[in-house]
Amino acid sequence: MRELSNYQCLRHCLFLDRDGVVNRSPGSGYVTSSEDFALNEGIGELLQSAHSFGWLVIIVSSQRCVSKGLITTKDLASIHESMQASLDDRYGSNFDGIYIYTGEPGTEDWEKPRPGMIEQACKDHAINPATSLLVGDQDRDIEMAQNAGIGRTVRVLNAEEQRPNHVIADLTVGSIPEMVVAVKQCMESRDVITNQPNDHSS
Ligand SMILES: [Mg+2]
Repeated sequence: MRELSNYQCLRHCLFLDRDGVVNRSPGSGYVTSSEDFALNEGIGELLQSAHSFGWLVIIVSSQRCVSKGLITTKDLASIHESMQASLDDRYGSNFDGIYIYTGEPGTEDWEKPRPGMIEQACKDHAINPATSLLVGDQDRDIEMAQNAGIGRTVRVLNAEEQRPNHVIADLTVGSIPEMVVAVKQCMESRDVITNQPNDHSS
């Protein structure tokens, strides 16, 4: 990787919560196998668009099912490997990173709404949080983004769960398709503003 000489070189990133954003929400339960993992419509196209604009796309997710003993870290990795392979097959694009809080002792800094997962991703991938975006469906997602200094937050309302929302996102949308349109527009306009070279061709 080329050395970063200044702040301007840092990348933009689209951070996505997993359950309820990337894939259909399992409700109060967990996704414990690849068969239960249903990608939401439009996510593959969103990945392609983000990469064409030169943005990274990274998942930040809580999966306490690991510390609860419902699945192993190997099972979780296998669900993500299958997701990545399927995205690559169908869209020629997949996620640039997957950061998971598993609830295991010693990983508390990554627990939402703490900013640990995002901070680690920013270090690993040379991301500027201030020019990045996060999409989530819960208060803790939006709060984590705010704590990490993410420039813009988008909340997708989940009609089935109807959790009370106390933390206000910059933009609230009623569905995944609506979110995809809004986020594409946001990335496209910011790409023009910052004149970021498109070095992530797909
Ligand atoms: Mg969620």
